[in-house]
Amino acid sequence: MSNKTLIDDALYNYLLSISLRESEILQKLRQETATHPMSQMQIAPDQGQFMALLVQLMGAKKALEIGVFTGYSSLCVALALPPDGQLIACDVSEEYTAIARRYWQMAGVADKIDLRLAPALDTLDQLLAEGQANQFDFAFIDADKSAYPQYYERTLQLVRPGGLIAIDNVLWSGRVADPQVQDNRTEGIRAFNQRLYQDQRINLSVLPLADGLTLALKRWPV
Ligand code: CA
Repeated sequence: MSNKTLIDDALYNYLLSISLRESEILQKLRQETATHPMSQMQIAPDQGQFMALLVQLMGAKKALEIGVFTGYSSLCVALALPPDGQLIACDVSEEYTAIARRYWQMAGVADKIDLRLAPALDTLDQLLAEGQANQFDFAFIDADKSAYPQYYERTLQLVRPGGLIAIDNVLWSGRVADPQVQDNRTEGIRAFNQRLYQDQRINLSVLPLADGLTLALKRWPV
């Protein structure tokens, strides 16, 4: 679950030097998370800024996140949502999300975030059962890779036509392109990427941003 960029360090540092406008609170959260043993699960700061820009570009009001960890991506998205915006955030870890909740409070966005501490598939099924299909503008999937196909199918129902799903780690530190690598997780990501490529329900773009980010826009019914 590396968040390492696919471009070299010198160029990446240059890119950050002319683009990253990370607020103090996001910096603090990143510093705190850096000491965490699972710190590689945090998204890259330029990716967070990019997702915030997408949310603003779309005028998104209702967002979904699958995989919160210590809350960097949810904080980026929540800060970009309007005051009446809402983010439903799914995670199973009380421990990691305790850090997230602390920063949401400090940033004044806790009211916008509805944390669902449960297996994300259960939460997504519950949202569908509540009639929330086609209600979400933006979604970010960044949780256990083995369940990506299931997260994706449910999320595709939950976003509105014209809504966007961003999916993290699709280039898997470059291992997807190395035929020598045949472990289950890498094969799973390859199959998932191929499936989205064939999926006529979406328009897509795969960006070599951070560890690879797929953008899938839900098409309008024909
Ligand atoms: Ca990730």
